Amino acid sequence: MKITSIKSHVLRYELEKELGYSQQYYKHRTAHLVEVRTDEGITGWGECFGPGNIALANKFIVENVIQPLVLGEDPLNKEHIWQKVYNLLRDSGQKGMPIQALSGVDIALWDILGRKNNTPLYQLVGGKCNSEIPVYGYGMMLQKKPVDELISLFKEESEQIKSKKFKAMKMKVGFGPTEDLKLVQSVRDSVGKDFKLMVDANHAYNLKDALYVGKGLDELDVYWFEEPVAPEDYEGYNQLRQKIKTSIAGGEAEFTKYGWNKLIKNKCIDIAQPEVCGLGGITEYLKVAALAQANFIPVVNHVWGSAVSIAVNLHLLTAQPDMPGGLFPSKSMLEFDTTKKNIFITDLPKENFSILDQVKNNNGFASVTDNAGIGITPNEDFIKEFEVNE
Ligand SMILES: [Mg+2]
Repeated sequence: MKITSIKSHVLRYELEKELGYSQQYYKHRTAHLVEVRTDEGITGWGECFGPGNIALANKFIVENVIQPLVLGEDPLNKEHIWQKVYNLLRDSGQKGMPIQALSGVDIALWDILGRKNNTPLYQLVGGKCNSEIPVYGYGMMLQKKPVDELISLFKEESEQIKSKKFKAMKMKVGFGPTEDLKLVQSVRDSVGKDFKLMVDANHAYNLKDALYVGKGLDELDVYWFEEPVAPEDYEGYNQLRQKIKTSIAGGEAEFTKYGWNKLIKNKCIDIAQPEVCGLGGITEYLKVAALAQANFIPVVNHVWGSAVSIAVNLHLLTAQPDMPGGLFPSKSMLEFDTTKKNIFITDLPKENFSILDQVKNNNGFASVTDNAGIGITPNEDFIKEFEVNE
């Protein structure tokens, strides 16, 4: 089999209202799909992490930098292709956009392998360790409103997420340490003391502020404190982790086994959040997961993007062992977007693929199907309707 073309599709639509996290507000939702075609008529699909205009830059890298390197290669030689591309990009990009671009291509190669052998992805990466995966809902994004107003909106939203049967929920912070603790306190009061609540700072703080917030979160029984400091601040992560009780989660902005090795060696995190669509694809994810396993760090994948990314992550989590095992082990979870209807999740696949229905009907759990490869195929008419042609 030979690769005959690699095409990127950047999809975009305007949101009804702006949403935000600690770094920016955004008005458009973006997804970046990668389509790899072969001479046997089998097409594989992948996805690259990278919102907004980053997706357009990544599209250029996929089509104009990576494609010429791998045209004519056998798509089943995933490791060889990964190493060849990484080696040739190494001098120009060991992290960031080149690796995000490579991720989408690599995922599509795994999809091709699955479709060729009529085998679901989870079986290609180790088989079933868990038949159902607990799902947590993320929402409570920042909005351009006074914090007092947001407090009541977050209360409402947290009640909604809980009523949809999610097993846990995650909120954003980023208005500054004092305001942020007020927000978390109000959500904690609203969901009750026993519900799993996570807090995501998207690296809004320096170490001092992160310590102040972290000590506050200790009192509020927060399940994890996500990306408290900048991803480059390994020392800050390490110090924070020693000084607060709450688990420190991170890694969505870390790349390849080389970056992850450093993050883990520096004892930065209690919970690893690898982003398969950013860190280098499935080939590299499996190595990162092995590193985490060797260091007894639980893995709870970071999930962002369209139904393609969600499908891939559901397979990876299905094949992931509990760390450590036991009669009542602490389980990984699937991260899921609960903000206003995300059509790149609900309306993109040809197949019926509703995580929300599964969560509702199965008390907070979701399961993979036995469809070949990643298990879903993007609808081409849908792609045409939302594709950005710039
Ligand atoms: Mg995050």
